[in-house]
Amino acid sequence: MDDTELYAKAKRLARECLIVDTHLDVPYHVMEHPADVAERTSSTDFDYPRARDGELACPFFAVYVPHSYETAGGAYAYAEKTISFVEQLVARRPDRFALVRAPEEIAPANAKGCIAIALGIENGAPLEGKLDNIRHFYDRGIRYITLAHSRANHICDASYDTLRPWNGLSPFGRLVVAEMNRVGMMIDISHLSDSAAFQVLRLSRAPVLASHSSCRFFTPGYERNMSDDLIRALAANGGVIDVNFGSEFLVDSIHQADLRVSAEIRNYAAEHHLKSTDDEAVRFARSYKKSHVIPYADVRDVAEHIDHVVKLVGIDHVGIGSDFDGLGDELPKGLKDVSGYPNLIVELLKRGYSEEAIRKVCSGNVCRVWHEAERIARER
Ligand SMILES: [Zn+2]
Repeated sequence: MDDTELYAKAKRLARECLIVDTHLDVPYHVMEHPADVAERTSSTDFDYPRARDGELACPFFAVYVPHSYETAGGAYAYAEKTISFVEQLVARRPDRFALVRAPEEIAPANAKGCIAIALGIENGAPLEGKLDNIRHFYDRGIRYITLAHSRANHICDASYDTLRPWNGLSPFGRLVVAEMNRVGMMIDISHLSDSAAFQVLRLSRAPVLASHSSCRFFTPGYERNMSDDLIRALAANGGVIDVNFGSEFLVDSIHQADLRVSAEIRNYAAEHHLKSTDDEAVRFARSYKKSHVIPYADVRDVAEHIDHVVKLVGIDHVGIGSDFDGLGDELPKGLKDVSGYPNLIVELLKRGYSEEAIRKVCSGNVCRVWHEAERIARER
């Protein structure tokens, strides 16, 4: 099969698979930098025309809540505002977008020419200490909650935070896990500290999601990615790790280069008493990055991570969690935006993945976890 034939086959498979990508940061990105994603844009990774080119059936839009709302208050209101923003975006173009609340709603939405949009909250801050808010957000259409983001919150510790106030989950966080199981809300362990993630896996009756994490095997010491032990525990619980496309998540040398460049930029700002958003700091960051170019990963690197999970725990526990519109300029060659998914499928075909295996990676596994969360909630 030549490259054109292979791409055509990948594209057909992509369409049949109904690709579900569990993490795109479209709402926050577009709220910060307005763009009409119903039409082609140059400022986002996601828009309708490119999503159609890439055969994307159902992106999960992250209702991302910055940590500042955890400390200053207003997280619940901010989550509400973001959900309304997405509802309005969809309402403006009912010919192009549809909100979905269950896997069964994806195909009918696609059949009408719509991209099916599902919702997850990134950062449990908007629960604001009230278990009832899990049901509230479920009723608003949210189908997963990433328990924490960059810092520890009132639910659990976070991988990027050196402070570990809870040594895993807080007492409230333990109740959150039980209530999410009871309601049928998927639990997302991306961004959590290892101990928080392991505690979730011990407590949760339902399979758990890592909506946008890659394998720490390739980036030793980077806790934001999942260790082999964590992936084994996730699989034992029936869950799925959806691989993040960020170059620094995929390749250690890129991760190290990124750390070095970020440290230099931070040091400069500190020495000159600047905030990172000050003009001079932004100018310095831009010119420093120009003279210290960080390379990009490649679509093959994403496939390497998928291969690694498959070797560890089999084909039933890996999926796609791109982090499009959440990464800035660090997406791999071949996966620069939502039109790129067929390139990943080409790579999987080259590696001998069967059509059935590709179907599981593209949507089957995550839809199983989604269904299981609902089933276990009904079972009680
Ligand atoms: Zn994230």
